[in-house]
Amino acid sequence: MNLNTIVEVKRPSSAEQIGQWRAGYAWLAGGTWLFSEPQVATSTLIDLDSLGWTPLTATAEGLEIAATCRIADLHAFKGPPAWRAVPLFHGCIDAFLMSFKIWNAATVGGNVCMSLPAGAMISLTAALDGVCTLWPRPNQSNGGQPREVTVADFVTGNHKNVLEKGELLRSIRLPASALSKRYAMRQMSLTHLGRSAALLVGTAGDDGSDFLLTITAATPRPVQLRFAKMPSADDLRQAINQRLPADGYFQDVHGSASYKRHLTYYFAEQIRAELA
Ligand SMILES: Cc1cc2nc3c(=O)[nH]c(=O)nc-3n(C[C@H](O)[C@H](O)[C@H](O)COP(=O)(O)OP(=O)(O)OC[C@H]3O[C@@H](n4cnc5c(N)ncnc54)[C@H](O)[C@@H]3O)c2cc1C
Repeated sequence: MNLNTIVEVKRPSSAEQIGQWRAGYAWLAGGTWLFSEPQVATSTLIDLDSLGWTPLTATAEGLEIAATCRIADLHAFKGPPAWRAVPLFHGCIDAFLMSFKIWNAATVGGNVCMSLPAGAMISLTAALDGVCTLWPRPNQSNGGQPREVTVADFVTGNHKNVLEKGELLRSIRLPASALSKRYAMRQMSLTHLGRSAALLVGTAGDDGSDFLLTITAATPRPVQLRFAKMPSADDLRQAINQRLPADGYFQDVHGSASYKRHLTYYFAEQIRAELA
């Protein structure tokens, strides 16, 4: 849709060119959400595309995903054979309700910054121990120094995250250690191609050690349970109960809290059994 309140679109070649953050400014990534509803408080869009960040950088340490990396670029990524979790990229991208326009325009960073419970790029990057690099504006509390926060801690609730005003998500780093683990994923939507009611991912080493269960979509923000070795079915259920009380689930038109709770137990056990 047309955004009638926009009076300026800035196209900086470096983030430093945006010094003072003003009311009415908004970072523009793929624009798929920004242009999907009126933005009455926004007068200036700052296009991140002009920063020219390399979408994906693979090194021995892992994969750096620029915030501006398009979903389509991530889908096309082929990692080395040792990165056994790369097929999870497709699993999570396919869980992302979207038309081909969103597929080709939406960015990984835009999805993470929207911080919706069903944010499939949140599910993916949290499950693979992703770490966000954030670039504050120069006048912000810590003097504008970049900071790092895990994806799991970045999202604090439904459409809520740790970003301060004007703070920029620069990239998400997935460590090679997480990319090399075995994984299992389960996802459910109430409707065909609908938004996820629950998306759970488990990762583990070959011997079942270092089991990490990441629960998303069923909860307002990612919930992670870590075990040094594969738990029993009872231990896993108890750990979920301890971390997630019955009122800790996210209720919306895509599923009731009790339905999402049921899916969480059901999928968690399937994932545990598959990786055990
Ligand atoms: C039809 C439709 C279906 C959708 N389905 C889903 C779904 O199933 N699951 C889901 O999670 N979401 C869904 N969404 C919303 C959604 O998350 C996105 O459209 C998309 O992921 C946003 O990415 P974008 O790059 O287009 O971001 P934009 O629309 O450009 O930006 C989104 C927000 O993030 C901010 N932002 C973007 N990048 C950065 C950055 N690097 N640093 C700081 N702030 C930034 C922007 O200022 C803006 O507030 C849907 C949207 C539509 C229109």
